[in-house]
Amino acid sequence: MSRLVVLGGAESGVGAAVLAKVKGYDVFLSDKGKIADHYIDMLKQWDIPFEEGQHSESLILNADEVVKSPGIPNAAPMVQKLMTQGVPIISEIEFAGRYDSAKKICITGSNGKTTTTSLIYYLLQNAGLNVGLGGNIGKSYAYQVATEKYDYYVLEISSFQLDNAYDFRPDIAIITNITPDHLDRYNYNMEEYVKAKFRITRNLRPEDCFIFDSDDAITIDHLSKIILQAKMLPFTQESKVEQGAYIEDDRIIVKYEESESEIYLKELALGGKHNVYNSMAAALAAKAVDIDDETIRKSLASFEPIEHRLEPVLSIKDVLYINDSKATNVDSAWYALECQTKPVVWIVGGKDKGNDYSVLNELVRTKVKAIVCLGLDNTKIHAAFEEMIGSENIVDTHSAEDAVKAASRFASPGDVVLLSPCCASFDLFTCYEDRGEQFKHAVRNL
Ligand code: ADP
Repeated sequence: MSRLVVLGGAESGVGAAVLAKVKGYDVFLSDKGKIADHYIDMLKQWDIPFEEGQHSESLILNADEVVKSPGIPNAAPMVQKLMTQGVPIISEIEFAGRYDSAKKICITGSNGKTTTTSLIYYLLQNAGLNVGLGGNIGKSYAYQVATEKYDYYVLEISSFQLDNAYDFRPDIAIITNITPDHLDRYNYNMEEYVKAKFRITRNLRPEDCFIFDSDDAITIDHLSKIILQAKMLPFTQESKVEQGAYIEDDRIIVKYEESESEIYLKELALGGKHNVYNSMAAALAAKAVDIDDETIRKSLASFEPIEHRLEPVLSIKDVLYINDSKATNVDSAWYALECQTKPVVWIVGGKDKGNDYSVLNELVRTKVKAIVCLGLDNTKIHAAFEEMIGSENIVDTHSAEDAVKAASRFASPGDVVLLSPCCASFDLFTCYEDRGEQFKHAVRNL
């Protein structure tokens, strides 16, 4: 019996362990930290041996293959040891892909992954297809392959999951865009990060589709260096394309093979220039699986905003509070600021991932009236904006409650208070959802 060891006992790791169990492997799961109670329950229920709080070499180094959770960096000592010993290390999607013959639409990129993934899932569901949603959203892909039977999967895939993917092949691959993020995990090397994202395209065949943002210079630059077999479907707001999606007057035009469809921009449910891109990518994927125009139009018009992504919370004294806690890098905050039409009190900060704030200068100068820093160390934000905005218009806070109170003091009727932090949340919160929840709670308590 082949021995499969899973490193990491969270959603993807436990899913992979369950799939391995179902497929008859001798499976063992090891997590150096604590495993959450509900995952322990799952492991027990599936009768899967595991350990937590340690990695026992004697139980791990004898693996024929290892599934590594995306959160564990290659530099981790156990991963290094496995690599030295030549034990193959794969990701959960690589493992699950071996047992799945469904058509797969896979989305990666720096920003817009969850939105685009959710949009496509919604489109396929509305078209009546038997479709599963997974990857970084909801239940893991591997767990669903073990327990469900779908004809289609829509999968949000991070570059960490692609790092250890080799034969995994989407039928439709999407890169939403590529901007610097998580550079810390790629030795601060942009080229490495770009290559990691492009791994999603490595097995595409001529009949498969590649959907990408042709306004994105980094994507286009990399495409000029590689050869792809797939059908190329760019989306753009800056030019016209023969195949793909573009803007003409007040409409999105989608051209796929012989067919051409139109979607009025004003009918899109999600606002902001970035969501025009996301909607274009989703419409192209839908066309590629042969969904009719009416369903595409209606779905893009009726999709509801996702939590923590430019989510309107409440209007208090004619000040609208918006929760964009998921904006964990500079580029996503750029789009969040770009689509604001009223004066903004901006709540920003957290764990900085090597941000260059200068790209926001113009937007901050023209749209932001005050800045509330919400992070343990706000030096970089002060250095970037204090002179521009005036020292009386920038304050430091260390909790969502204080941040919301401070923002409400700066705001006048007609303004917007926008939480769009540009940074990860781990300095003061457990995750971006926690930050968003605490923000919303504080707003409701104002
Ligand atoms: P991801 O899953 O890639 O982190 P999300 O869809 O969750 O992306 O969106 C996160 C944030 O990124 C949003 O709140 C928004 O501010 C911004 N965003 C969404 N789509 C795009 C896009 N296409 N380009 C740039 N920023 C985007």
